[in-house]
Amino acid sequence: MKHTKRKSLAEALERHGMRPTPQRETVYNVLISKRDHPTADEVYMRCKKVAPGISLATVYNCLETLVACDLVRQVNRERKSTRYCPNLHEHAHFHCRKTGKIHDIDLTAEAHEALLSLLPEGFDAEGIELTFTGIKR
Ligand SMILES: [Zn+2]
Repeated sequence: MKHTKRKSLAEALERHGMRPTPQRETVYNVLISKRDHPTADEVYMRCKKVAPGISLATVYNCLETLVACDLVRQVNRERKSTRYCPNLHEHAHFHCRKTGKIHDIDLTAEAHEALLSLLPEGFDAEGIELTFTGIKR
């Protein structure tokens, strides 16, 4: 892992009172190295390649910690297993019906503002989850 990334991971964990551990680093590294919204099982398979001793329970724990520290967000599709996304910029997802893949779609500041402007008085959004479904040609 690059020094700056390792430092920002450590800082983000420490801000939430968590210690950086080699396992947390491994899981985070796996997530940022291939941004294809893997499931916990897929993260586990990839972690095992670099850290053969790691257990599925540890991977789950690490994912939970990374989500709690706002380093990774969960992507939930109905009745499907949770997927994990390390992209913390405001973005929407596009779920391709044909391949089952989830793609990141950038949300411009204007689009973000326009969505927030839909909220009636008294609703304060802390985030937007927007998923397109269809087919990516
Ligand atoms: Zn994403």
